[in-house]
Amino acid sequence: FVNSIDEFFTYCEDNDVQFVDFRFTDIKGAWHHLTYRMGAVSAEQLEAGLPFDGSSVDAWQPINKSDMLLKPDVPTAFLDPFTADPTIIIFCDVYDIYKNQAYEKCPRSIAKKALQHADELGIADAAYFGPENEFFIFDDVKFVDNINEAGYKVDTEEGEWNSNTHYEDMYNTAHRPGTKGGYFPVAPTDSMVDMRAEMMQVLEQVGLEVVLGHHEVAQGQGEIGIVFSDIIGAADNVQKYKYVVKMIAHLNGKTATFMPKPLYGDNGNGMHVHQSLWKDGKNLFYKEGEYANLSETALHYIGGIFKHARAVAAFTNPSTNSYKRLIPGFEAPSILTYSSQNRSASCRIPYGAGEKATRVEMRFPDSTACPYLAFACMMMAGLDGIKNKDIPIGPMDEDLFELTLDEIREKKIPQMPHTLRGSLEALIRDNDFLKPVFTDLFIQTYQHYQFERQVWPDEGRPTAYEFKTTYQ
Ligand code: GLU
Ligand code: MG
Ligand code: MG
Repeated sequence: FVNSIDEFFTYCEDNDVQFVDFRFTDIKGAWHHLTYRMGAVSAEQLEAGLPFDGSSVDAWQPINKSDMLLKPDVPTAFLDPFTADPTIIIFCDVYDIYKNQAYEKCPRSIAKKALQHADELGIADAAYFGPENEFFIFDDVKFVDNINEAGYKVDTEEGEWNSNTHYEDMYNTAHRPGTKGGYFPVAPTDSMVDMRAEMMQVLEQVGLEVVLGHHEVAQGQGEIGIVFSDIIGAADNVQKYKYVVKMIAHLNGKTATFMPKPLYGDNGNGMHVHQSLWKDGKNLFYKEGEYANLSETALHYIGGIFKHARAVAAFTNPSTNSYKRLIPGFEAPSILTYSSQNRSASCRIPYGAGEKATRVEMRFPDSTACPYLAFACMMMAGLDGIKNKDIPIGPMDEDLFELTLDEIREKKIPQMPHTLRGSLEALIRDNDFLKPVFTDLFIQTYQHYQFERQVWPDEGRPTAYEFKTTYQ
């Protein structure tokens, strides 16, 4: 909307903007903000950066070195569609005043560095990313008629799930999608039509190019299709997308979640990521006449991502819950092979895309990933594959969910890790491909943070289900 600081102030005046909301992303992908009164913001400040307390953000600065700067990326400014008073939001990078450089734990700065690295290697001068973030809409109350969000009856006296009684067996729910029944009957089975329409309109308002919206396969699941962008723009769009989807659900008295596997036994939420590398205006992934019109460079890129996939997963699937999604039978991949059209493979090549649109779709990531880190990490693995001429296993066009474990082993097809612990341990062993874009300090901080925040508390916590399966 604005290209320069001058234009920014004119735009704010024209739109009677009262507040400037400076936003940045932490290492788990959460969006944070500081709100300034419009009158208190000067052109000098926008140039120099705004001070904030970097010690109050997870895994960032120690208390004795807490002063940091937010460097606003002014051309990203857009009006917040939700505030009562006109407020303009600006994406910011974080700047380290002690080292006088972009902060090594700022995901947005890391993604910028990754693109610069691709250019310095002489491989690519542009990288396009097209994420597809799926979500669930749930009622914004814990219990409806003693039924929890997963559809199971809750015995309130005992306080335990009665996991044998699913509400579908108890009530006439013919007007609602059943398990795997959401894709895609019309209303009234699809009850989210108006809410998705509202989301699509507001997403356009904040600058995303929206193509379509639809119900997804699971009950209460949806997706909105957005046009791809460059690596930073696409990650910025994910932050806007999640903000808008959650806010519209909230304003409709519902709650939206991007959790990878909220419902046992139904499809989960993915963040498939379409990607292609370009140089001098040419798509490096296209070669007419090859399998799915894929060039050797594209195959090496896939090969690199697969070779490092166990470590990459620490960034693309960074939750304990992520691994509950990566099991056969729910359109989410678990084994690392590629195929044209095949939705059971980790990498799908969309059919018949032509020179400009030929791309690879990585299907394993999910939306709990910090988009900047996930995109940067996949690109670093792919670039490493191009350097080393890695070749992925494939193509495999059969339904891979039908393969037995023995067959997977026989064919030597690598698998995604099964737990967050597995991917974090892989990251400790395999991180050379991330350097020099991801510093050692950042990688150590990240993996320790994830162990402490998620792995250890999860592993140490008895679950309700264990009461059933333990012979006590
Ligand atoms: N929901 C599926 C997943 O977990 C993907 C469905 C689709 O192909 O869009 O990845
Ligand atoms: Mg989908
Ligand atoms: Mg997809």
